[in-house]
Amino acid sequence: MNNTQVYPVKAFQDNYIWTIHNETHAVIVDPGESQPVFDFLKSRELSLSAILVTHHHPDHIGGIHDIVDRHDIPVYGPKTETIPAITHKLVEGDSVSLDALDMTLKVLDIPGHTAGHIAYIDNQRLFCGDTLFSCGCGRIFEGSPPQMFRSIKKLTELSDSTEIYCTHEYTLSNIKFARTVEPDNQDLANYEKIVEQKLANKQASLPTSIGLEKSINPFLRYNEPKVVQAAQTRSQTPISNEIEVFAAIRAWKDNF
Ligand code: ZN
Ligand code: FE
Repeated sequence: MNNTQVYPVKAFQDNYIWTIHNETHAVIVDPGESQPVFDFLKSRELSLSAILVTHHHPDHIGGIHDIVDRHDIPVYGPKTETIPAITHKLVEGDSVSLDALDMTLKVLDIPGHTAGHIAYIDNQRLFCGDTLFSCGCGRIFEGSPPQMFRSIKKLTELSDSTEIYCTHEYTLSNIKFARTVEPDNQDLANYEKIVEQKLANKQASLPTSIGLEKSINPFLRYNEPKVVQAAQTRSQTPISNEIEVFAAIRAWKDNF
């Protein structure tokens, strides 16, 4: 067990650049901007030792150029996406040894939002980019609904206590949609109050956890009779399996 902490460095409107650090060193995930990272490192007197990237969208990679200009460090990212400055190209089964933090992360392939999207996990934490959000999931830009479904399902097979570090603060608006899908879900009503309180206190709503998401996130609840029913009511075509439930909920959210 290492003694690292994770801190949300804010970027743009609603991005988080998750920063895994100990007393002396830091590793950052998806730096869409550089200046917030420089400010954080300076204020905490931390030395940057690596960059991890989940996918190629500009709000996740935009800061890399300026950061590697100042720091001679490895940049890890998905093998099948074109991202300038990547030094280590990763696929599922690879692992990343972060010696300065005394930790190792494993790589999972989770395509759907983008074609080569990856996640980083250890026994305790999941860094999943734009694939899973609290109470929601990423839009399917480059993949298909069945592919995104399999990626999300893979994440739900992690232990319930796994902390999930998503890259956007979308939780409250996702809850509004989830409550439309499942108006009677009491866990969801309770969660909305907790999230409102955190945001009012200028705290991140994240991390969430796999166990919590299973009780509130409509994209993980494709087996719940009420979610199936809501998806069927909404969908034009008959729904006969969990992938079709997932796809109908995703299409509904796209137009919400
Ligand atoms: Zn994205
Ligand atoms: Fe994003």
